[in-house]
Amino acid sequence: MSTMKALVFVENGKIEIREKKIPDVGPNDALIKITTTTICGTDIHIFKGEYPVKSGLTVGHEPVGVIEKLGSAVQGYEEGQRVIAGAICPSFTSYACQDGFPSQDGAYLQTDGTCSCHGYKATAGWRFGNIIDGTQAEYVLVPDAQANLAPIPDGLTDEQVLMCPDIMSTGFKGAENANIQIGDVVAVFAQGPIGLCATAGAKLRGASTIIAIDGNNERLAMSKKLGADITLNFKEVDVYEEIMKITGNRGVDSSIEALGLQATFNQAIKILKPGGTMSSLGVYSEDLTIPMEYFAAGLGDHTIRTALCPGGKERMRRLMNVVASGKVDLSEMVTHTYKLDDIVEAYDLFMHQRDGVLKVAIKP
Ligand SMILES: [Zn+2]
Repeated sequence: MSTMKALVFVENGKIEIREKKIPDVGPNDALIKITTTTICGTDIHIFKGEYPVKSGLTVGHEPVGVIEKLGSAVQGYEEGQRVIAGAICPSFTSYACQDGFPSQDGAYLQTDGTCSCHGYKATAGWRFGNIIDGTQAEYVLVPDAQANLAPIPDGLTDEQVLMCPDIMSTGFKGAENANIQIGDVVAVFAQGPIGLCATAGAKLRGASTIIAIDGNNERLAMSKKLGADITLNFKEVDVYEEIMKITGNRGVDSSIEALGLQATFNQAIKILKPGGTMSSLGVYSEDLTIPMEYFAAGLGDHTIRTALCPGGKERMRRLMNVVASGKVDLSEMVTHTYKLDDIVEAYDLFMHQRDGVLKVAIKP
């Protein structure tokens, strides 16, 4: 067998399953047979044309699978081993990587395949379904496999580790960037999959009061299970007034924005105390403005931090360690399962948030 099924981006608003050649394995690569993958909110941005990728690219960046073939230079793994790789697969060789920002790794940018001088390029550590073929397929080629393949601990199911490559890594990074101190009050805007993981991360970081905000009561109920102390439905209450009441007009110590809209960005700044940290995870589709009154004209000692999901095998090992320890159980977030053949239908369900969907497991 030399071909496989893969979901490709065709043009704005159009994706389809195509037969593609199973990729050749270079010395530093590993070919992974996908056993489970999923659809991310970012894939919906790609589908709609809000985030451009080239036509014919295989979409998806969340791989769980089995090593089918190892490159000649990849050591310390075995064919047949169960592994994940991060959604972000940095080279770990560039200046950006060695400067502590592997997600902004521009080492492999040039389309002719030559190295682009080990540089920095915002978001370019994200290669699956962005720069190279992604994971919504029967097989995926993992580049720089020795730095990026993370063995799955015995006893963990695909569903238990499906959040590690992206959603959990991103959501936890939102909590890590929020500079949460033990006893802090933290507000998390939007309780989609990433916001829910940010809520779980805030709890692990020691926040004493976590306020979760969304317009969907099912998602708010899930956020309570994952660590939220107070939930606010913005369709039912004035979020700013409620948070000022809860904090005695002090504002929250940290806020986390997990949607990518001007409205939530504004709110996350408005309810922040002077000296507080706003941690931004959203993927924004247009220019942002900062609400100057609440930003104290730039004099309020506020911090705004942005991030792209961290990748690499050490990050993945730690996240799977959290899962194995039982401290967080995210498998309940997998609400639906589809075969790869039916993935276009799964996109439609996920995009329109029907039937209480949070994450969809896709099985080739
Ligand atoms: Zn994603």
